[in-house]
Amino acid sequence: KNPRSSVIIVGAGISGISAAKVLAENGVDDMLILEASDRIGGRVRKEEFGEVTVELGAGWIAGVGGKQSNPVWELAKQSNLRTCFSDYSYARYNIYDRSGKIFPSGIAADSYKKAVDSAIQRLSQEANHDASTAHDVSVLAETPSTPKTPIELAIDFILHDFEMAEVEPISTYVDFGDREFLVADQRGYEHLLYKMAETFLTTKEDKILDSRLKLNKVVRELQHSRNGVSVTTEDGCVYEANYVILSVSIGVLQSNLISFRPPLPRWKTEAISNCDVMVYTKIFLKFPYKFWPCGPEKEFFIYAHERRGYYTFWQHMENAYPGSNILVVTLTNGESKRVEAQPDEETLREAMEVLRNMFGPEIPDALDILVPRWWNNRFQRGSYSNYPIYVNHQHVDDIKAPVGRVFFTGEHTSEKFSGYVHGAYLSGIDTSKALLDEMRKDKGRKNENQAFL
Ligand code: FAD
Repeated sequence: KNPRSSVIIVGAGISGISAAKVLAENGVDDMLILEASDRIGGRVRKEEFGEVTVELGAGWIAGVGGKQSNPVWELAKQSNLRTCFSDYSYARYNIYDRSGKIFPSGIAADSYKKAVDSAIQRLSQEANHDASTAHDVSVLAETPSTPKTPIELAIDFILHDFEMAEVEPISTYVDFGDREFLVADQRGYEHLLYKMAETFLTTKEDKILDSRLKLNKVVRELQHSRNGVSVTTEDGCVYEANYVILSVSIGVLQSNLISFRPPLPRWKTEAISNCDVMVYTKIFLKFPYKFWPCGPEKEFFIYAHERRGYYTFWQHMENAYPGSNILVVTLTNGESKRVEAQPDEETLREAMEVLRNMFGPEIPDALDILVPRWWNNRFQRGSYSNYPIYVNHQHVDDIKAPVGRVFFTGEHTSEKFSGYVHGAYLSGIDTSKALLDEMRKDKGRKNENQAFL
């Protein structure tokens, strides 16, 4: 039988690790971290591809240069993480049509302005509806500027899937500044997590040796009562604790991977199921040589196609890794799910056709392709949470509120910074602080009872 811990943390992404660190700093040494996969990091994940390190999940530190410092930027500075400044607002001036012509900047700027105006109009309409009627697309479908042409569709995709900052104030940019830095470090973005972990777990050369971190432990059942929590993993082990912090993604909470006994209350399950999950896929392509422009303001380019989101957003990796000859194309939602379901050769064929439309038939074939599958990964089920503009505070409060001895954390529980690494990091700190308060109160109640007896 495993000894009972004070706290079990389920998941070793950045929120789980930051939560554990706060507990350790407050004297809770007997915590246990159960992680389903064979590594820490979760959606912060590197892989070697084409002789460099690429980031399959989070790639940018978003929100830098403001009055307040982004805590993840601080961590990056402390660990000397290599980053490069990146500005994708110029992408709108590098829009290719299907015949490889770049739209003149005047046309692109006009279309962009029209799209921003219409998005603002749309958002204010949505904000005036309550959550139930805002989903009624018939109300919105008739706005005169619904995107139709390939350039309008491409800009609509860029605006809504990347740059919402220009349409509505995003707390990340308001609080921390509007600059973004791409992580370009062979040790990966995940190096930040290892640096954090080594402050409270026994590590050796970027390897965590501490027995309080257990990898390959897929939590399948969580039994909770007034007296404690019992966690069962897929391999049949049972771990007991006074409390649990659950840091799994919103997609995992929506799936049936973990069953709760007794089941979670209705207000909780409704809040979980009402949260949108965004799928965001970066596909990497390695080439024998460069055939795309690389000068200033050329890092990002856009392909305008009649299907929204069809291989729309491209980036070259020459700024991050000169000479790497790697292109990245980003797909989202329906397109992400579609390519996840097909063989990579088919995705490669589609991507090459798009590139030949833009750059001509003579460009070389890609040597290799990497297609992450965040949607089909049962420990993720999507890339990040996406709260619609009209979401009310109660919804996020319900997502993060504890149920008895089960506490919730992760990017989806962050009211201001959901969807970001810093949102996840800060949520871990918040959740542990709330739990420490609860533990103090619990201790106070026990002392009172003892005094009474
Ligand atoms: P996770 O990192 O998902 O951690 C949860 C952990 O729980 C995982 O390790 C998982 O394996 C584990 N787990 C799941 N189920 C179980 C189980 N049953 N038992 C035990 N363990 C379990 N953010 C940015 O700031 N900038 C970006 O540029 C950016 N780009 C992104 C691009 C992509 C493709 C993706 C996927 C995400 C991106 N994000 C970005 C978002 C950012 O990565 C996340 O917000 C953040 O990493 C989430 O951390 P977390 O701790 O909340 O969750």
